[in-house]
Amino acid sequence: MSRVAVIGGGLAGITAAIALAESGADVTLLEARPRLGGATCSFNRDGLIVDTGQHVFLGCCSAYRGLLAKLGMTEHAPLQRRFDVTVLAPGANGQPRRARLRRTALPGPLHMLPALGRYPFLSRAERVSVSRPALAMRRVDPADPAVDQQRFGDWLAAHGQGERARRALWDLFSVSALNIAGDDASLSLAATVVKTGLLGKNNAADIGVAALPLGELHGDAGATLLAKLGAQVLLATKVTGIEPEPGDGSRFRICLAQGGEMIADAVVLAVPHEKAAPLIPPDTLPDGTVASWAGLGASPIVNVHVIYDRPVTDLPFAAAIDSPVQWVFDRTRISGLGRPGQQYLAISLSAADEYADVPAARLREQFVPALAELFPAARDAQVTEFFVTRERRATFRQAPGSGALRPGTATRRPGLVLAGAWTDTGWPDTMEGAVRSGLAEAIELKASLSTIGVPK
Ligand SMILES: Cc1cc2nc3c(=O)[nH]c(=O)nc-3n(C[C@H](O)[C@H](O)[C@H](O)COP(=O)(O)OP(=O)(O)OC[C@H]3O[C@@H](n4cnc5c(N)ncnc54)[C@H](O)[C@@H]3O)c2cc1C
Repeated sequence: MSRVAVIGGGLAGITAAIALAESGADVTLLEARPRLGGATCSFNRDGLIVDTGQHVFLGCCSAYRGLLAKLGMTEHAPLQRRFDVTVLAPGANGQPRRARLRRTALPGPLHMLPALGRYPFLSRAERVSVSRPALAMRRVDPADPAVDQQRFGDWLAAHGQGERARRALWDLFSVSALNIAGDDASLSLAATVVKTGLLGKNNAADIGVAALPLGELHGDAGATLLAKLGAQVLLATKVTGIEPEPGDGSRFRICLAQGGEMIADAVVLAVPHEKAAPLIPPDTLPDGTVASWAGLGASPIVNVHVIYDRPVTDLPFAAAIDSPVQWVFDRTRISGLGRPGQQYLAISLSAADEYADVPAARLREQFVPALAELFPAARDAQVTEFFVTRERRATFRQAPGSGALRPGTATRRPGLVLAGAWTDTGWPDTMEGAVRSGLAEAIELKASLSTIGVPK
């Protein structure tokens, strides 16, 4: 039986470890932190269970939903029956303006037309103009390298989308999906999102939100399944080097930070690009490849957490325009907030470069009034707790040119494969991308082990 080391216990590593253990390999998952789940994690703040970053997924995230099913978690991550988003904006007389973007049962892409036709934050002419890029997008090939060189904002402008349409409509989805200011996103990744989510099947963009903290949904459930499959999970185990064994180099020595090492027939490297770069043995990839990964950079996500002494909204989540608030989620039940009558809201701020280093007190001065503009009941409510979580390297910067820098799964060294949401999955840096990479890499590794004659 081949011994496989999976390095990194995020969604990519968990997925790969499960797939390889299921196929009969002797799997050891090595994770630097004291828990599994990677970027999808939770912590306990005096009894309150906090996700460091609110996550959502879509109906079209088939690989991620497959992982949830394997983990026995489908019922704990429900999808909307139909795509349904309330969009709020501050109003002139203190009353917020409100729109509801709700799909119909019509087949895609017609399913969104009635809601877009009524969208009150655009003029009639702007609403009519939306069909132009929607139609043109069908001809955009996300895999075309020339498409990856273009800015989404320039492409939208060239297809009749002025500043208002880009900010009040397209940004709603592209900024949160791609974690970069809407205009600055790679057209290639934006096209994947728009074509799959909005122009595909009518249920493709239905939104899923976990009903459990992410640590339980992914990390704890992943550890339980891996134990059942006989895989070994080593937490708080940081890998500091991967060295091909002397001789024919068909095995690998995995060096550990706490001292000691492990020998493996094959390695799945499922860590972020900046952590993968120093671990790759020389000559594993064409010259310059590893150095080029620095160009993928990083883009932050900041979550602003506010607890009120009373309920201020009955919406499970909402998007906002003309406000610093982007998306806001009711976390009261999920967090186990045991304070009767109080409500816990989390604001998710993508592409949050301007907030990443701002002190919590200043963010409070900005976001508590911004929430009061959207939720009138918040004006009389007391804030009982306010805190901020910051993920400075939440995703890579999904800008033009990033597609060319994302490596595939295979390397020149049989038995060593790459995984992670940053690799060339064709998807944005998302949970779906991470799971797809984990599956792709497990398939690649099984093929590679057969090639070098190691029994699977
Ligand atoms: C705040 C936030 C909000 C997000 N929102 C969404 C969302 O709404 N929807 C969505 O689909 N996606 C969202 N994402 C993105 C999504 O979480 C990621 O794309 C995905 O989880 C990445 O998974 P991964 O396994 O590729 O990498 P990671 O989750 O980064 O896992 C890599 C793991 O490798 C470990 N590691 C690193 N170095 C070593 C080493 N030397 N030895 C051992 N282990 C090591 C790390 O500790 C980590 O656990 C969000 C991300 C963040 C941060």
